Amino acid sequence: MNLTNRCRTCGATSYKPVIKRDGSGKMRSSGQYQCVGCRLVFTSINEWRIGAAAQGQPSRSAQ
Ligand SMILES: [Zn+2]
Repeated sequence: MNLTNRCRTCGATSYKPVIKRDGSGKMRSSGQYQCVGCRLVFTSINEWRIGAAAQGQPSRSAQ
């Protein structure tokens, strides 16, 4: 198994949840993530690892 979890753009190996303020001023998770390297914002890990264009591929690796 050699599943590398890293950014396709900058090679960073981690990301963090994007936290936003909602209408009442509370900090909430937006359901998005941001690469710690290039600041790319994405909603799915595959988008970060592979790119949005590759999402249609039959890859069934869970986690
Ligand atoms: Zn990146």
